[in-house]
Amino acid sequence: MAEPALGSRSRDLYERAKRVIPGGVNSPIRAFDPYPFFVERAGGSRLYDVDGHAYIDYCMAYGALMLGHAPEVISEAVKAQLDKGTLYGAPTELEVELAELVRRLYPSVEMLRLVNSGTEATMHAVRAARGFTGRKKLVKFEGCFHGSHDCVLVKAGSGAAWLGVPSSLGVPEETARNTIVLPFNDFGALEETFEREGGEIAAVLVEPVMANSGLILPEKGYLHLLRRLTRDHGSVLIFDEIVTGFRVAPGGAQERYGVRPDMTTLGKVLGGGFPMAAFGGRREIMEKLSPLGPVYQAGTFSGNPVSVAAGHATLRYLIDNGSRIYPELERKREELTRALADLSEEHGLSVQVHGLASMFQVFFTPNPVRDHASARLSDLRRFRAYFASLLGDGIFIPPSQFETCFLSTAHTDEDLKLTIEAFDRALGRAASASG
Ligand SMILES: *Cc1c(COP(=O)(O)O)cnc(C)c1O
Repeated sequence: MAEPALGSRSRDLYERAKRVIPGGVNSPIRAFDPYPFFVERAGGSRLYDVDGHAYIDYCMAYGALMLGHAPEVISEAVKAQLDKGTLYGAPTELEVELAELVRRLYPSVEMLRLVNSGTEATMHAVRAARGFTGRKKLVKFEGCFHGSHDCVLVKAGSGAAWLGVPSSLGVPEETARNTIVLPFNDFGALEETFEREGGEIAAVLVEPVMANSGLILPEKGYLHLLRRLTRDHGSVLIFDEIVTGFRVAPGGAQERYGVRPDMTTLGKVLGGGFPMAAFGGRREIMEKLSPLGPVYQAGTFSGNPVSVAAGHATLRYLIDNGSRIYPELERKREELTRALADLSEEHGLSVQVHGLASMFQVFFTPNPVRDHASARLSDLRRFRAYFASLLGDGIFIPPSQFETCFLSTAHTDEDLKLTIEAFDRALGRAASASG
């Protein structure tokens, strides 16, 4: 197997980091064997590490960087803001304009609040839904990831799945008990649950397209069933579009699949590479928030002018160039997923290749993947061989079978050509890694 082309400076930094930072990283998924590369700088489609290696980046900060690294439109907006101050503790015109842009793209989001991370967005959305309905129970789906607060850290995806931890120590049983976990794409389980306890369910929180157990698409009619059942039982339907928002369409999965949720969470792309997220939805729910209503929510850095400038520049760019960008990203992604499927076949590998808009993943399993349990049947030894080979060839993808790869507008056709050559070698190595 190809040794990842890492270097001694990354290794030394990792040793130093481990003494002061748990696992040497500030978010668990960043650690991989034998040690992660440490980044010196980034630009366009490339990451450059401290040992002088360049990587074509398909992690793109877990989907946050739709326009690639350090795009000029965002850098300029941020530099201009820095000279005018970075935090005011008072509102600004641009945050109003940003909220109006979001509402234009997401008609279901009649009102919204800006926060600093996706974790905060889902936490506050769930609290608002509970406050609005006066109910406690939350339905979520196995392998969906909604950040790292208590009520959603039950059978979560992303880093939690990667570590094989079904939930987390430190989450009280009493809290977890109010979270009902269902398998995704299981129509019957959903109907039974609502029949049994629909009247107690405050909210259903779902990634309309799962992007934290690999990439898993909703089956035809599934999101519509969610909509019908929640409406019939007076539960709040929350689409967690922190990955899919601005990605699968300017108006997210709700635009692409034509389903209008009661609430939506946005993040990642929204911040243009800076910490920012949002939650919003129906006016009558959002009007429960303080200072209008009794649901408390606040944040020192919420709507800070630097993140708002970056997010505003991103959204403006996507709106102005969307008719060109989205079809082009989809074409590039199709080129990659077609290559993955064809090359796997050539190497005698039976795999599942999933793709939507600028997102894709290959599962090393001959079985169809439609939920977290079927994703977990993937052969992780094959995935590790594939990952290591790609890294050795200067291609960086998220280091887990249970994540999703992302294209940005900075990826060129030349990048794709190099990537497909590396796919060929990587799938060859995966084929000979015994499963
Ligand atoms: C990344 C992610 C979150 C958490 O966002 P953070 O900004 O990391 O807190 C929530 N939901 C989904 C679907 C995500 O992918």
